[in-house]
Amino acid sequence: MSNSMILGIGALLALACGGAAANPQPAHYDIAILGGRVIDPETGLDAIRNVGIRGDRIVAVAEAAMTATTVIDASGRVVSPGFIDLHAHGQTVLAARMQALDGVTTALELEAGVLPVEDFYAQRADQGRPINYGTAVNWASARIAVLMNKSPQADISWFMQQFSNPAWQSRLATEPEVEQMAKLVQEGLDQGALGVGFLLGYAPGTGRKEYYRMTQLAARNSVPTFTHARFLSMLEPDSSFEGTQEIIATAAGTGAQVHIVHLNSISLRDIGIVSSMIAGARERGVRVTTEAYPYGAGSTGIGAAMFRGPDWRERIGGVTAGSFDVDGERLSEDELARLQREAPGTQTVLHFLDTTNPRDQQLLDQAVLFSGGVIASDGGDWTVAGEPLPPATWPLPEGAWSHPRSAGTFARFLRQYVREQKSLTLLAAIERITFGPAAIMQESAPQLRQKGRIQPGADADIVVFDLARITDNATYATPAQPSGGIDYVLVNGELLVAEGRLDTAVMPGRPMRNERR
Ligand SMILES: [Zn+2]
Repeated sequence: MSNSMILGIGALLALACGGAAANPQPAHYDIAILGGRVIDPETGLDAIRNVGIRGDRIVAVAEAAMTATTVIDASGRVVSPGFIDLHAHGQTVLAARMQALDGVTTALELEAGVLPVEDFYAQRADQGRPINYGTAVNWASARIAVLMNKSPQADISWFMQQFSNPAWQSRLATEPEVEQMAKLVQEGLDQGALGVGFLLGYAPGTGRKEYYRMTQLAARNSVPTFTHARFLSMLEPDSSFEGTQEIIATAAGTGAQVHIVHLNSISLRDIGIVSSMIAGARERGVRVTTEAYPYGAGSTGIGAAMFRGPDWRERIGGVTAGSFDVDGERLSEDELARLQREAPGTQTVLHFLDTTNPRDQQLLDQAVLFSGGVIASDGGDWTVAGEPLPPATWPLPEGAWSHPRSAGTFARFLRQYVREQKSLTLLAAIERITFGPAAIMQESAPQLRQKGRIQPGADADIVVFDLARITDNATYATPAQPSGGIDYVLVNGELLVAEGRLDTAVMPGRPMRNERR
């Protein structure tokens, strides 16, 4: 299916103009990617080039001929920096492998984060990861620890056990409790967390002053924050609009760098007014950024705080039980009620927009194409019949379930917005999935200064794909299908995917941490 191939040792492809006379000895590299359409958003490069790699670094981007131990023929393909996902809840080997097949070379858990942070890095260093990883510190876990007197664990299942417990979600914290939370968050930052994750929408009873003070703490540590806004509603009061106002006001007041997660899902059908507020704040110098994923459905636990209260359905835009699906099946009213009562941690997909309706698709487009925004998956782990799979499982069983964004976000974005709709140039689209996210992170995480780029000195995190063939294959009904058209993925100079096939024997992923670590 792919006509590209890795040529043998010492292979040489003389693509340079002119003849052999000018330079009889082409430079030799460990890996050379030859004749591809190289895209580098930071410099605006979009041209046919050869890329030479030594060790874990790109050392040459040139028209001149190159030889290498391993040669990749990229003719007819795009050579892009590896995709960087700022919103990746699936931090298992399995989830990372599915993302690698979607072109992702760095996947960071920033919206939620973890606590304790050191445990997260230690476990991954121990097990190895196929792609680069990193985390924020989880403020919500600190809130659970303090308000419920529990020891936090750096594990999503621990968090999901407390998921629908109002004890940490609906009351103000006392002054000493806020102090204790601040101490736990500071510890996480001292252990290298990339920022502070605020799942504020899961604890809407949190004090405004608490959120403000925690953001001040992030500002003092020069790390960004990542916030799931307090409200999900088109109706006022307590609307998505007000939730966004709170984040922007907090950014303006504290000077912190704040990132608003999943603009598409948090805005519902108010994307026009919400995005105009974010754009206006950016124009006036507030340090606020945002992201979206190219799907009209979100995913969370079915017992989440946003699915409670007398008018919650109307607030989310008139959803019904049939707007929810679990394991690819739409729910009845009885099933929804039973799951909310008996199994509130059950992962569900909520169809908040109907993208078969052109008006809803336009709303989604507004979020995905927000000026200066980036693409982030919000993807998660994989389950079978509601149970997590052993993390080393490979290949993913056909019946495994997750939101399709866990497998297809980046290929879908390129397919829809570049190849089909042509609403972005290839260069502008690649910026949103490489240099754009790196730029958000690089002030506090210097490692990201070498990522999202195809330049001499940059890390050799590279994706080679065919723009004519790239596609997501994951659907709501059958999500466990890797993307297609992605032929090669290199992580830190190692070939993780070759000719579309993932190598399970290599674990080239490295930890990403803040400046102090
Ligand atoms: Zn969220």
